[in-house]
Amino acid sequence: MGKYHGTSSTVLRPRTTKEVSEIVKYCNEKRIGIVPQGGNTGLVGGSVPTGRGELVVSLGSMNKVRHFDPVSGMCTLVADAGCVLQSLTDYLAPHNHIMPVEFGAKGSCMIGGNCATNAGGVRLLRYGSLHGTVLGLEVVLPDGTILDQLTTLRKDNTGYDLKQLFIGSEGTLGIITGVSILTPPAPQASSNALLALPSFDSVLPLFKRAKRELSEILSAFEFIDRGAYDLSVRHGQGRGMSPEEAGGAECFVLIETSGGRREHDEEKLSDLLEHLLSEDKPLINTGVLSQDATQFSNIWSLREGITEAVSKEGKAYKYDISIPLSAFKEVVDATKDRLREKGLLGPHAVKEVVGYGHIGDGNLHLNVVAAAYTSEIEAALEPFVYELVGKYKGSISAEHGLGVMKAHALHYSKNGISIEWMRRIKDLFDPNGIMNPGKVLPPASGASHEPSLKNTGSGRVA
Ligand SMILES: Cc1cc2nc3c(=O)[nH]c(=O)nc-3n(C[C@H](O)[C@H](O)[C@H](O)COP(=O)(O)OP(=O)(O)OC[C@H]3O[C@@H](n4cnc5c(N)ncnc54)[C@H](O)[C@@H]3O)c2cc1C
Repeated sequence: MGKYHGTSSTVLRPRTTKEVSEIVKYCNEKRIGIVPQGGNTGLVGGSVPTGRGELVVSLGSMNKVRHFDPVSGMCTLVADAGCVLQSLTDYLAPHNHIMPVEFGAKGSCMIGGNCATNAGGVRLLRYGSLHGTVLGLEVVLPDGTILDQLTTLRKDNTGYDLKQLFIGSEGTLGIITGVSILTPPAPQASSNALLALPSFDSVLPLFKRAKRELSEILSAFEFIDRGAYDLSVRHGQGRGMSPEEAGGAECFVLIETSGGRREHDEEKLSDLLEHLLSEDKPLINTGVLSQDATQFSNIWSLREGITEAVSKEGKAYKYDISIPLSAFKEVVDATKDRLREKGLLGPHAVKEVVGYGHIGDGNLHLNVVAAAYTSEIEAALEPFVYELVGKYKGSISAEHGLGVMKAHALHYSKNGISIEWMRRIKDLFDPNGIMNPGKVLPPASGASHEPSLKNTGSGRVA
């Protein structure tokens, strides 16, 4: 995104958990801040040093699969935190299993980073969040202690489930070094279709219809508004419909099915399309059903490539929010109106305001694409967008986390008591405040979680 820049004198690339432990112990004794870094694909600046003299600990050299048991039926993968998500998908493919998490950054992001951010993505609708699919973690705590909870048990009701604290903690409570995760059997057949909708009003009834008619084989339901679709096509991300087909569509929906019998699943999906098109007041203008693997991945690339297309178009203010589905369009329109009122809509300032996201999870990605990052645009958007989310009792971060971008806005989604207990947990684990300082929690007056850290000098890091 080019939005966050950091400086650090040192990047360390440990190869073992023991090395991570020694680094962290040393830093804790010397009060040196640490920024854990995975694939550096995070969208909220969480993996970037903030000028407190932090050093970067990159997990990229810890990239081995430790264990996978294809025989016992437990389907659990145990891997180093630095394994790239795509490499784990490739590793599992010959065993006919898949990772329960998948999204556009899969070629660079790492499983440790995925857990640290509690990443969502396009498979959440089917397989649930990492809070459910991660069975165990190995974590180096801020004093260097190795917390080994790398269990492969599916059931373990023995008191507090500590691993949950690290899932989504964005490197502020410890460094994840190993992950044990459920890997579902690969679906025997997957199909997808891209549907063009006459208006946003069709999205919710369409979602209901898809759930009813496709039931157990519905595995993704993704929303793309017209602006996001045009951006993705313009920047060559996948292939959509012909301009005639896309015609007057106000928005698009990508439906994926995954199931056990190709003929059965394809029949269900094409039946749905036929039913939709034959109605008096059709919910869709038209639909394209993938006919082979290339078309299948072309349709997905169109959706997964939006983030990249947005970055190619300009500088993006990205808001990843959870709100009721019925409010998706209202939020995009209200943001456009706000920018228009401020005289900021146009090629000189904000070029596009687009919305897309995981409808099935109530997650909208609101992207404001500007010619440049400016304080004027930021002031028009914040706290405006957060207040809008607050109005719908939504979340200011559905899946990307808080990082450095939204720490100050935490109170829009969490009440004072919740924030206070988050602080207490941070202080308990990390009394010297060395783990990813300045991220997740807002600064507090007299903050005990951010005591003075030693400055180690600076050099530029990417
Ligand atoms: C094209 C694109 C599409 C994306 N799509 C999605 C999406 O659909 N859903 C979604 O949720 N996110 C998405 N993201 C955001 C991002 O990819 C995820 O947040 C991802 O999980 C980050 O993983 P990473 O390894 O790159 O972590 P990094 O970016 O390196 O780090 C992210 C945070 O986790 C911490 N961290 C990293 N590794 C560790 C570790 N081992 N131990 C402790 N803390 C650690 C860092 O300090 C930082 O705070 C997308 C990003 C891009 C660029």
